[in-house]
Amino acid sequence: MIPYSRQKITQADIDAVVKVLKSDFLTQGQEVPKLEAEIAKKTQAEFAIAVSNATSALHISYLALGLKADDWLWTSPISFLSTANAALFIGAKVKFIDIDINTFNICPKKLGEELKKAASANRLPKIISCVHMGGNSAPMSEIKQLADKYNIKLVEDGAHALGASYLGSKVGSCQFSDLCVFSLHPVKIITSGEGGLITTNDKSIAEKLKLLRSHGVTRENAAVDEKWTYEQLELGFNYRMTDFQAALGLSQANRLEQIIKERNKIARIYFEKLAKLPIKLPQVDKTNISSWHLFIIRLNSKEQRKIVYNYLRDKNIGVNVHYIPIPTQPFYRNLGYSLDACPNADKYYQRCLSLPLFPELSASQISYIIESLQEALRLDIKDTQ
Ligand SMILES: *Cc1c(COP(=O)(O)O)cnc(C)c1O
Repeated sequence: MIPYSRQKITQADIDAVVKVLKSDFLTQGQEVPKLEAEIAKKTQAEFAIAVSNATSALHISYLALGLKADDWLWTSPISFLSTANAALFIGAKVKFIDIDINTFNICPKKLGEELKKAASANRLPKIISCVHMGGNSAPMSEIKQLADKYNIKLVEDGAHALGASYLGSKVGSCQFSDLCVFSLHPVKIITSGEGGLITTNDKSIAEKLKLLRSHGVTRENAAVDEKWTYEQLELGFNYRMTDFQAALGLSQANRLEQIIKERNKIARIYFEKLAKLPIKLPQVDKTNISSWHLFIIRLNSKEQRKIVYNYLRDKNIGVNVHYIPIPTQPFYRNLGYSLDACPNADKYYQRCLSLPLFPELSASQISYIIESLQEALRLDIKDTQ
């Protein structure tokens, strides 16, 4: 099966990990700070904090921004579960705002309308968590204007978007947000096995995040003659990244620009070769350079999506659906959630399909995917005649 995404591991990556395995520190050594410094540099942010995965990153990010039980966090229904789950970890309530049908990101117009209503009902959210779906940045400048107007904190879930750009700045520069979260899971842009990163320009947020990822403990206040002292200041977690993971992440980060180029090249081939097919291709705003974590096409109906999905899967092409809308999951349904207020998300979900896209996808594999998709679309036309 050609997967929809997969990691690329080079000899340099392997050497970097082996070096750490032979060293004194498997965790809490020098590799995590080195990875953090490199990511801060690459995203043009002041601080980067490495953690165990993006789910834990979202959890402590929401805590660091002051989210508490019964507060509201607003996000998109079209994301991976963690974006919303991390708010529920804290006992907060989640409201899902509909997407823009062409960009698959939270719709700023809808967001504005809902904020106006929430302001008069005195139910404004504490945090808005924006997902950069597929690697294509949400319109952060517009969203920040709204967040500032109502004094709301802004999180970027950039799990798909490491290496992407928006309005000439890197995603993660936090020019339009309080902080940005990245995932280093193997299907994402670069990997450390499991891993997450948070970037921010706010020193107090960075310090809070460092406390929360490691038991809420600091050694910074120890007196010179009482070096053993450590103090627990917060109820923290063990959300640390190990040093051999950080070594892998750092080795991969060194190739980030190359990886983004390769992903953009494959996306361009898809755009060129799929242009004449009766399907909808993804849309990237002129303000953006996508990292192309996902190449999402839209079919014309849910029946056609099913036919095309099954046909391509039978041909060993690992197409996928990103994502089943979060509020329609059984767990969320049982809490009373539905997709009623999000018609675009429903329409998108019925028709979307992610084609394989990763740097090691060969030219012949790309041709095979395109030919098979053409066959599947012809098949569908025959079926419905
Ligand atoms: C993958 C992903 C996450 C979770 O990342 P992990 O590192 O696997 O915890 C969160 N949000 C989005 C949008 C994702 O795609």
